[in-house]
Amino acid sequence: MTTVLLDSCEFVVTVDDDVSAGEAGTEIAGGSILIEDGVIAWVGTGAPPAEADERIDGRGTIALPGLVNTHHHLYQTLTRARAAREGLFGWLVALYPVWAGVDAEWVHAAARAGLAQLALAGTSTTTDHHYIHPKGIGELLEVEIEAARALGMRFHPCRGSMDLGEADGGLPPDSVVETTEQALERSEDAVRRFHDPSPGAMLRIAIAPCSPFSVTERLMRESAELARRVGVLLHTHLAETLDEERFCVERFGRRPLELMDDWGWVGPDVWFAHGVHLDDKDVRRIGETSSGVASCPSSNLRLGAGVAPVRGLLEERARVGLGVDGPASNEASDLFGEIRQAMLVSRAAGPERGLSDREALRLATRGGAEILGRDDIGSIERGRRADVAVFAVDGLAQVGAEADPVAGLLMGASQRVRHLLVEGRPVVRDGRLVTADEEEIGREGHRVARRIAETG
Ligand SMILES: [Zn+2]
Repeated sequence: MTTVLLDSCEFVVTVDDDVSAGEAGTEIAGGSILIEDGVIAWVGTGAPPAEADERIDGRGTIALPGLVNTHHHLYQTLTRARAAREGLFGWLVALYPVWAGVDAEWVHAAARAGLAQLALAGTSTTTDHHYIHPKGIGELLEVEIEAARALGMRFHPCRGSMDLGEADGGLPPDSVVETTEQALERSEDAVRRFHDPSPGAMLRIAIAPCSPFSVTERLMRESAELARRVGVLLHTHLAETLDEERFCVERFGRRPLELMDDWGWVGPDVWFAHGVHLDDKDVRRIGETSSGVASCPSSNLRLGAGVAPVRGLLEERARVGLGVDGPASNEASDLFGEIRQAMLVSRAAGPERGLSDREALRLATRGGAEILGRDDIGSIERGRRADVAVFAVDGLAQVGAEADPVAGLLMGASQRVRHLLVEGRPVVRDGRLVTADEEEIGREGHRVARRIAETG
């Protein structure tokens, strides 16, 4: 057995269920965490119940549950800083021809860079939504799965798909869509090859047709049947922009969430990215079906999409997490920064219904775990997997937050994590990746992105 003691943190923010203690649950001043074989064995103050093989000095730090990212497109890491004036549809039309060139080298470089950026911002678990499959390229999901395994991150990749190209009235070019049969077969194959349903799993697959304007009704309906038959979650984009709403109303006479309801796409095994343009009826329906929403505030602002009704969704008991979304619309893979962003944007309409700093942290941890159907991560409690993000609060960036160092950390400028443990194993130590060479990942990313910029 391997034991690790994270010793004497300034605070351990547990995000447990005791919300009477605060919106982020119990916060333990001077707290320590004992980890045994990747599982949290004890959280408390004073002497731990057992000696540890290794001790990590927690003084001057705050320990948070490892963050859980619920929406991403890792391949976009290499196509940032484009179409900055466009809304969603104009931005997609500008970028689809570039993305049509995606291949294994691209996905390898992009996944390593994006995952490394996530880890350095305190993310221990991430999903990804890969839906671009140019003809003749082969299966790209396994490339990013290998990248996540090598870095040591907990990974929930979604096997995405599109089967409605321009010729059939969809938005994506025909060269990047699959046939309906191919999409279903390859999705099932990904589940069969990679999905691990066991407790503490490091790798789980979801099935994820892309969006109402790039996928046929048949693929949506049959994907839902497939996911339920093989026991995996369902994910898609929904109600991101008014363009999408108009598309659904014109083509189907239904609003986006009504379509999902028609197609069997609501329930505790479904989560949607964005959920910006939801009316009160939609919000109630998402809550009563226990569906999930991955809110992506920076991306929604970058594309001018709007602001998701997060407070309303929480009041209706929907499951809500945070996502960075693809770096082509976020411009970063910084989930820690999304905590601050979610809080700030929720307060734009006035303080009464805005999120607090701790509520936003809960979304980025427990909320994300609930979205991904996991009760073994998302909080620092005995028996949970030892995914812990440790942030320094004794440096220049945190000067002046002595009255409430936790609030100072969450509301201040985004920080590089000091230590990140995933399954009790160090992925970041003293602010540096330990499972990979950060400079080498950067060089590979720049090299492949230059090739993409020259050809696309
Ligand atoms: Zn997205």
